[in-house]
Amino acid sequence: MDKDITISIIGAGPGGYEAAILASKLGAKVNLIENKELGGTCLNKGCIPTKIFLHTANKIKEIKDLKSLNIDTSDLIYNFKDILDRKNKDINKLRNGINNLIKSNHINFIKGEGKLIKDNLIQVKTKNKKIELPTDYTILATGSSPIIPESFNYNKNNIITTEELFDLEVLPETIVIIGGGVAAVEICQYLSRFGVKVTIIEAEDHILPNQDKDIIRKFTRILKKDKVKILTKTKVNSIKEKDNKIEVITDNDKVIVADMALICVGRTPNTNNIYNESLHIRRDNNNLIKVNNFLQTDNERVYAIGDIVNSPMLAHMASHEAFTAVNNILGNKIEINYKAVPNALYTEPEITSVGYSEDELKEKNIPYLKGTFPFRLLGKAISMNQTDGMVKILTDPNQKIIGATIFGTHASDLIMELVLAIEKNLSANEISDLIHPHPSLSEAILEAARDVSDLSINKL
Ligand SMILES: Cc1cc2nc3c(=O)[nH]c(=O)nc-3n(C[C@H](O)[C@H](O)[C@H](O)COP(=O)(O)OP(=O)(O)OC[C@H]3O[C@@H](n4cnc5c(N)ncnc54)[C@H](O)[C@@H]3O)c2cc1C
Repeated sequence: MDKDITISIIGAGPGGYEAAILASKLGAKVNLIENKELGGTCLNKGCIPTKIFLHTANKIKEIKDLKSLNIDTSDLIYNFKDILDRKNKDINKLRNGINNLIKSNHINFIKGEGKLIKDNLIQVKTKNKKIELPTDYTILATGSSPIIPESFNYNKNNIITTEELFDLEVLPETIVIIGGGVAAVEICQYLSRFGVKVTIIEAEDHILPNQDKDIIRKFTRILKKDKVKILTKTKVNSIKEKDNKIEVITDNDKVIVADMALICVGRTPNTNNIYNESLHIRRDNNNLIKVNNFLQTDNERVYAIGDIVNSPMLAHMASHEAFTAVNNILGNKIEINYKAVPNALYTEPEITSVGYSEDELKEKNIPYLKGTFPFRLLGKAISMNQTDGMVKILTDPNQKIIGATIFGTHASDLIMELVLAIEKNLSANEISDLIHPHPSLSEAILEAARDVSDLSINKL
């Protein structure tokens, strides 16, 4: 590799900052430009705050549930402000960790708004001045922002998005969440477990439109136990402020009054004004940057990764694309591969999936075999008092694993066995040939793999 290569990265989310560290470790000179906070959406307004709040809210629920084991928890006291302080402290700790990595890897970090003005020159607007940075290659990693329909009258006060939600010092008594996707449902669960009365509105006929329908049915029952109101097949026409409250007006003329509305209807890529249009970097109809299998744009010196390209908007996707783009720039040619991208919902219980869902196989008329195993028959799940859930494994007629969904505690940790299976073309038999520890939650995967051949030992 040419040791004098300079790689500049615009955006320091999980895509951008990981690209910077890897490029530096592989010997390039690196500029990293960020206009807000290190860690991007993921650390500051996405993955991490939701997980901290979910974890805390679910601990509270777990403690309350101890009543069923004859343990009195009626004296449980908590203060949301303390929970918020802990969230801020943990995020600061993680941000400082990234900052230390940037320094120790000798990355030139610049706080400011970056724009690629020529394919070998970046302009950065900092607080006080404009800087020009010569560059050999650029990675665009500018992430995404919430979609905000105009008629929703976003005011950052009581009609908000996830940009404001995680900094609220006081939670509302009632909230309407517009949108029933992954982030909305995670938020819905933690808010309801902190005592907020939540109504969730989804335009499709069920929440979590891309997940396994069997599992959504089971999960919906859990949300309803938390007293969440779910309105499906309902579109929101507009949101208005009225007498310190908000009114959500739906397409069937329903008016829902609450203290707050959270707009959670999807995200749009931050691709405006990050490069000079004369560079002929093309975008698609959704404003996503067009890249080839090496994540290179139409301009051979410019790469794009993360939420601004046409791949799942996930932090681990952005990190993986960072790895791919940096290697390609430095001559280690790697094609991006989206065969086994895990999806996770960090609710209680968690829901994770990889590969095809059963509904997708049915819709596409792809022949398949299925093995399932419920957590309620699993010694470890029973000993943890966490028996809601199941593993579902889908294979082709030759038993090669092509899809899997896990619904249950620790599903996001368990899914990797099945990610590996799909990526490496393993069969259900090859999974059931492996010795799984006992007692463990992974035995549910072993049993579901055996069930593909009707050979589950512990299932009736
Ligand atoms: C509520 C919520 C929960 C989520 N939970 C999960 C989860 O559990 N798991 C998961 O995998 N994903 C989750 N995501 C998605 C995840 O956060 C994103 O997919 C991920 O952050 C994308 O990474 P990125 O590096 O592409 O962009 P980002 O993380 O958005 O980072 C891009 C950075 O670029 C900066 N930037 C933009 N323009 C410029 C410019 N011109 N100059 C300088 N800097 C610029 C931005 O300020 C930002 O800091 C969640 C998202 C949300 C909103």
